[in-house]
Amino acid sequence: MISPGKTLGVLGGGQLGRMFAHSAERLGYRVHVYEPSSDSPAAEVSARSVHAPYTDLEQLEEFVRGCDVVTYEFENIPTEPLWRLEHAGVFHPKWQVLEVAQNRLREKNWLLKNGFPHVPFAEREAGGDLAAAIRSVGTPCVVKTADFGYDGKGQQKVTDEASLGRAVSAFQGQRAVVERWVDFKCELSVIVARSSGGETRSFPVAENIHTKHILDFSILPARVAPEIQEKARLLAEAIADRLGLVGLLAVEMFLTDRGEILVNEMAPRPHNSGHWSMDGCVTSQFEQHVRAIAGLPLGDVSMTAPVAIMVNILGDAWRWTGEKCVGEPNWAAILREPRAHLHLYGKKEPRPGRKMGHFTVTGTEVGETFERARRLKAALHAATSEAR
Ligand code: AMP
Repeated sequence: MISPGKTLGVLGGGQLGRMFAHSAERLGYRVHVYEPSSDSPAAEVSARSVHAPYTDLEQLEEFVRGCDVVTYEFENIPTEPLWRLEHAGVFHPKWQVLEVAQNRLREKNWLLKNGFPHVPFAEREAGGDLAAAIRSVGTPCVVKTADFGYDGKGQQKVTDEASLGRAVSAFQGQRAVVERWVDFKCELSVIVARSSGGETRSFPVAENIHTKHILDFSILPARVAPEIQEKARLLAEAIADRLGLVGLLAVEMFLTDRGEILVNEMAPRPHNSGHWSMDGCVTSQFEQHVRAIAGLPLGDVSMTAPVAIMVNILGDAWRWTGEKCVGEPNWAAILREPRAHLHLYGKKEPRPGRKMGHFTVTGTEVGETFERARRLKAALHAATSEAR
């Protein structure tokens, strides 16, 4: 057990690292952050931060040696420096888990090989025939880059010959995966924590609503039958077990009309769809991550309100005149609401599509709570003279 007072290292300095640092420090740990870009949300709230590329072995080794355990808040970290430094410290999760999760093709092939339900796909090696891969899957389908894709970046839907032609030129020479388009009933995610002793605990199943491929709302608990929730939970736990995970794993899934659950993506870290847990659960996902990697007993994942709804705040909520940002969102709308909690990530520059913060609303009934969340989101965007 890595007891409070010791040092936890995080690779990546984004908002997930920032919220992880808050939880770790509350439990008495020191947090060190390693992040290539300067001025990161996590560095601002940590005891120490190193600003260097992930490929700088010397700096990375010095960082790892200064920590009792090292974790990640971001899975797209080159794995070579990690396996080269395996002797220098303790890493949770292991680089092998990152390697599977950071590339869509490896992820899908891993799911296939291990018998987990996933969206039917075809692969296209760099330089291979994309049109043939698309025809083998059939339309509608979606082409995604194999590496470094997130929030719908590097994706294109193909519905007919014209969009097929556009995809062929857009993905020229790239490794890609072609997935069948799923007419899902809803999207679900399960965040599971697994400790070094193999203890596993899952947060309640979230129902996620995306807008333009970016998470917009997470609704807890998901509005699906208890059997579906149970099936989703068991699936996520089986995946975490098979990966030999220590830490957190978020599994995003599609629920089809026929009640099938298909895995879309996995992320071995805290996840946007778990942010609600900071305000609606006994233990937050960030504290649970700390507990899992430090070998502490896992925390209680019971909800503290019957319903919790998380709403992302993107740079779009600022006022824009063309490309110029001319005003702040109406923070007062959220701050005056009794059962709403505002979280901002300290990012200096808002940009459309950039995750700047989120808020969570709790309530007793899902219809009323969702209505309130949507009303607050609209009020936030409509910056009033009062707020300016
Ligand atoms: P991803 O980056 O793969 O998680 O995709 C972002 C979002 O795009 C997902 O959460 C879905 O809303 C949508 N999406 C991605 N792949 C598919 C698919 N095969 N069928 C339908 N919708 C999809």
